[in-house]
Amino acid sequence: MSRHPPDSSQLPRVVISVRGAQRLREGHVWVYRSDIVSDGSATPGALVEIVDGRGKTLGTALYSSASQIAIRFLSRERVDDLEKLVRQRICQAVAYRERVVHDTDAYRVVFSEADFLPGLIVDRYNDIVSFQVLTQGMDSGPARKALVSELSEQLHPEAIAERVDPKIRELERLPARSSGLVHGDKSTTVFSMNGVKFHYDALLGQKTGAFLDQRENYAATAQYARGEALDVCCYQGGFALHLAKSCSRVTGVDSSRPALEVADRNAELNGKEIEWIEANAFDLLRDYAAAGQQYDTVILDPPAFAKSKRDLDTALRGYKELNLRALKMLRPGGILATCSCSYHVSQADFLQVVAEAACDVHKSLRILESRPQAKDHPILLNVPETAYLKCLIMHVTL
Ligand code: SAH
Repeated sequence: MSRHPPDSSQLPRVVISVRGAQRLREGHVWVYRSDIVSDGSATPGALVEIVDGRGKTLGTALYSSASQIAIRFLSRERVDDLEKLVRQRICQAVAYRERVVHDTDAYRVVFSEADFLPGLIVDRYNDIVSFQVLTQGMDSGPARKALVSELSEQLHPEAIAERVDPKIRELERLPARSSGLVHGDKSTTVFSMNGVKFHYDALLGQKTGAFLDQRENYAATAQYARGEALDVCCYQGGFALHLAKSCSRVTGVDSSRPALEVADRNAELNGKEIEWIEANAFDLLRDYAAAGQQYDTVILDPPAFAKSKRDLDTALRGYKELNLRALKMLRPGGILATCSCSYHVSQADFLQVVAEAACDVHKSLRILESRPQAKDHPILLNVPETAYLKCLIMHVTL
């Protein structure tokens, strides 16, 4: 007997395998293309009804004709109006941030799957809101219309900017677009977090701008930091500027000159003296460690070394190398804050690599704090992929 209400034929019905259905029942939100039995002739980005092999409806999802992740789950309920759903979910996302975000006017407003808006990233930098669309569903007319008008209504920004990732648009088979303002004409501003000020340019920078996911880790690390500090892979100075409050000398290292130019302007904005060095972190740490250079605080926040599972071994070698050199240079009583933003490197893998590095340099470390990404980048309990950032703050004991 069919369990579908009579009007259910309006949405394409995508039939999924037992394995795909099991995944959704376990609380995950993705179904891979290999688990699609029949796509119900769904068009790119369409709202679809998800049905298991026995004809039981599991909920509503967005369909992608290009991604290996063919189905991104939206709701156990039936959804006919995507515009209305996107508006509601943005409201809920904003309300959640009102509870968990403090001491900043810059934070992630929408974090894709973790806010049940798969493929939509929204960041707020004071009076500028910046968004990125990563899936066919979120690129559709109703979703775009809802997102721009709801963000305006909820956050009253001076400007809204779209940040395009051309590679992702190509992979998702979306028409090319360019980055730019979609509302207002202001593209630069100053935002602040934990009492530290930063320049923001909606049309420049990596990702959607700053690395907001480290906001709580900056504050936590600054509590312990002291003496001479080295911030490795400093980008626009996130950690370095926080450390400058309590450290006697701070040096930031990054391979990106444009990032360091902003870092320097940020230091000036905060009235701090910080030395910025443009270098490859691996080369610089090797040379400094060999030369016997010493520090009281070292931050390691490299880019994601493992972009896929295949890169895991190389990534672990990279983390080991950086941590080893950093530990060599840390004085007794020193502080190491070491991070990994690779989802494919698990917490256990990361701890093991740092433990091996400590062992190799004959040092004993205490874990002061083991921290994830900031709470405005929520982690969904049943979707492990939403937990990606690891930040270990450690004390060199012996
Ligand atoms: N700590 C920063 C974020 C770091 S993101 C913050 O809190 O804002 C990673 C940074 O590593 C980027 O700025 C990138 O330019 C830099 N990077 C990548 N490869 C590098 C390398 N081999 N040596 C030095 N910096 C590198």
